[in-house]
Parts: sequence; C-alpha cells; structure tokens
Amino acid sequence: MSKVLDEVLSANAEYSRSFGAKTNLALPPARRFAILTCMDARLDPAKYAGLSEGDAHVIRNAGGRATDDAIRSLVISYKLLGTREFFVIHHSNCGMEFFTNDVISNLLDNSLETAELTAQGFRDVGKGPGSQEGRFINWHTISDSKQAVVDDVNRIRQHPLVPKNIPIYGYIYDVKSGKLVEVEEATRAGRVEETVRALRLDDVRSPGQEAPAATYTR
Ligand SMILES: [Zn+2]
Repeated sequence: MSKVLDEVLSANAEYSRSFGAKTNLALPPARRFAILTCMDARLDPAKYAGLSEGDAHVIRNAGGRATDDAIRSLVISYKLLGTREFFVIHHSNCGMEFFTNDVISNLLDNSLETAELTAQGFRDVGKGPGSQEGRFINWHTISDSKQAVVDDVNRIRQHPLVPKNIPIYGYIYDVKSGKLVEVEEATRAGRVEETVRALRLDDVRSPGQEAPAATYTR
C-alpha cells in the first residue's frame, strides 16, 4: 500500500473512533456562511476561521478564484442550504502568481511530468509527450493579489444568480503570520446596499431560510 494511503486510512480510523455527536450533524451549515479559498496546503480554513464540522461551507480551488464552478457551489450553498454571508479568502505567496496561461500551456505541451520551480520561474525537466489541451483552459492565474480578490468579489456580487442581500467579504491570509488581512476595496464591492438591507429587514423570513433544516435533517 502507498505510504500516504496507509497514513490517511489509519488517521481516518482514529478520527471515526471518537466521532461522537458529529453523527447527528444536519446537512445545512449551522453558522450559515461559505468561504471560497485557495487549495494551498498551508491554509486550513477550519483553523484560520475557527470552524467545526457542520459550521460552514468551504469551497476550494487553485487561487480561491470565482470560477463558474465556484459560483455553482456558492449558489447551491445559499439557495438550497441557507448560507447568508460569503467570504473570498486568497493568500500571500500564492502559486497562482508564479505563472501565466502561456507558461503552464507551454509546460504541458512539453510533458505531463512535474515542472521544476527555479528562481527564473517554472522549467520543464520531464519527458514528453505532452498535450495541447492546456491551451483550452483558462487557468485563472493572478498578477495582482489584491486586485484578484476585488475581481472575484465583484464577479460574485454581480452574478445574476447571487442575491443582493448576501454580503461578500474579501480577505488575504498572510502565510507568514496566519492573519486574515481585509482587502477593503473588495469588502466595499461586496457589501449589501442600504436599500437591499432595508428590504431584508421588512421581509424577515425569506422563503427557503427555514426549509433546508427540515428537508435535509435525516
Ligand atoms: Zn494559493
């Protein structure tokens, strides 16, 4: 058995032995929010945001970008499972800042083996053949870390399937300190307009907010 597979399965056996009350968790997130963040191995959203099992949705991809697929998850998150606030959390030293669409496409053209990261950027050391398919993918790389958070919050804010009464907060996690640093321009872009807030207070129970708990508690 692979060493990693062995480690994962034994860690899981240990985890499930003390599963306790988690067996009764409801499907909808108890704290009613969702985080879109990067897959970077240094980030643990449960720890940096204080989450327990059942608390929140965490959607992860390379960069924590607001891709169509991330938005698909956010829409399911609020529409079917009742979340009411979104966070977009990128981080410092993100790998998505170190290449462009052309760079990764060229590397994949050459070979499918792991490239080497040098001071001059990524360099291909593997054997071919590669594939041209990389040219058909938008890799959503990042050239300006703050602007990327602003862009992602803006994209979610303006998406026709995302309601205007969900606030969206934009942050950058500092991998050197573990701190979340607000990107004020992003949070401003993601805020709920006063007129929408007023409407929300008048309409205390919007449809669906209570439904998921009943529907999905099994
Ligand atoms: Zn990253």
